[in-house]
Amino acid sequence: MKRIVVLGGGESGTGAAILAKTKKMNVFLSDKGQINDEYKKVLVQYNIDFEENKHSSDKILNADEIIKSPGIPDKAPVIVKAKEKGINIISEIEFAGRYCNAKKICITGSNGKTTTATLICFLLKNAGINAGLAGNIGKSFAFQIATENHDYYVLELSSFQLDGMYEFKADIAVLLNITPDHLDRYDYKLENYVRSKFRILQNMNDDDCFIFCADDKITMQHIEKIVSKAKMLPFSQKTNISQGAHIENGSLLAQVNNDVFSMLTDDLSLKGKHNIYNSMAAAITGKMLDVKNEIIRQSLSTFKGVEHRLEFVLSIGGIKFINDSKATNVNSVWYALDSIKGNIVWIAGGTDKGNDYNEIMDLVKEKVRAIVCLGIDNSKIVSFFKDAVPIIIETYSAKDAVEKSYELACSGDTVLLSPACASFDLFENYEDRGEQFKKYVRNL
Ligand code: ADP
Repeated sequence: MKRIVVLGGGESGTGAAILAKTKKMNVFLSDKGQINDEYKKVLVQYNIDFEENKHSSDKILNADEIIKSPGIPDKAPVIVKAKEKGINIISEIEFAGRYCNAKKICITGSNGKTTTATLICFLLKNAGINAGLAGNIGKSFAFQIATENHDYYVLELSSFQLDGMYEFKADIAVLLNITPDHLDRYDYKLENYVRSKFRILQNMNDDDCFIFCADDKITMQHIEKIVSKAKMLPFSQKTNISQGAHIENGSLLAQVNNDVFSMLTDDLSLKGKHNIYNSMAAAITGKMLDVKNEIIRQSLSTFKGVEHRLEFVLSIGGIKFINDSKATNVNSVWYALDSIKGNIVWIAGGTDKGNDYNEIMDLVKEKVRAIVCLGIDNSKIVSFFKDAVPIIIETYSAKDAVEKSYELACSGDTVLLSPACASFDLFENYEDRGEQFKKYVRNL
């Protein structure tokens, strides 16, 4: 009996263990930290042997194959030891892919993955396609393969998941953009991170297609160096594109072969330049799958967006409140600031991941009336913007940040929570930060 060891007892690890168990393998799951009660219950229910708060070498290094959760770095001692022993180490997506006969539409990029994957799945469902949404979202891919039956999967893939993928093949691959992120896991070499993102293309042949952003410098630099059989379908807001998508006279045009889709960008439900890119990727995917133009149009004009991503909360006294708590890097803040008309009271801060704020300096000077810092250590933001923004104050709770922002804003302004930083200094996670923001806005 094949022995599978799953490292990490979160959503993906638990799902992988369940799939391995349903395939009659000898499964053991090990987590160095505590496993959430909900997952423990499921592991017990499926009769899966597991341990928590430790990694027992004797139970791990006898594996035929290891499935590693994306959060565990390659440098973790248990992984180093397993590699020394020559054990095959894969990701949950690679494992589940072996048992998946459905078509796979895979989305990666530094920003916009969740939004675009959710939008594409919405579009497929509107077209009557039996589609599942997985990857970094909701129920794991492995769990869905074990317990559900879909004709299509839309998978959100992070670079960490792609790193553990070898034989897996996407039918449609979407690479939204590449900006430096997570470099601590890539020896601080951008090239390594870029290569990881491009793994989404591996094993593709000429029936498959690759959808990417022709305006993204890093993507375009790398694309010149690769060879792929996949059909190339770029999208751009700057140049005209015959096969792919572009903007012409205020309309989004998407063309695959001779079939053209068009709609006014003003009619897209998701606002902001970044969302035009995301909508283009979805429109091309729709065209590739022969979805009717009216269904693509209806989907792109009615999609509600995903919580915590430029989410409109309330308007009070002419002041709009927007929750963009998921903006944990500077690039996504650029798009948030760019998409807002009028003056902004900007709530920013948290755990800095090596931010370079130069990218947003011009937009901040032009639009930001005041900065309300929300983090334990705000010194970097204060010193960077002190000559550019007249008012910078520091707060240490969502309640205080919301109340102070409300005092500082005038009618016609927007209060924007778009932190550019991770949330772990003051909050459980970005969802908690966004929830608290919304709660205190509603209490105003
Ligand atoms: P991901 O899953 O890649 O983290 P999300 O869809 O959760 O992406 O969005 C994360 C943040 O990035 C949000 O602040 C969102 O407004 C912003 N964003 C969404 N799409 C893009 C894009 N194409 N380019 C840049 N930023 C984006």
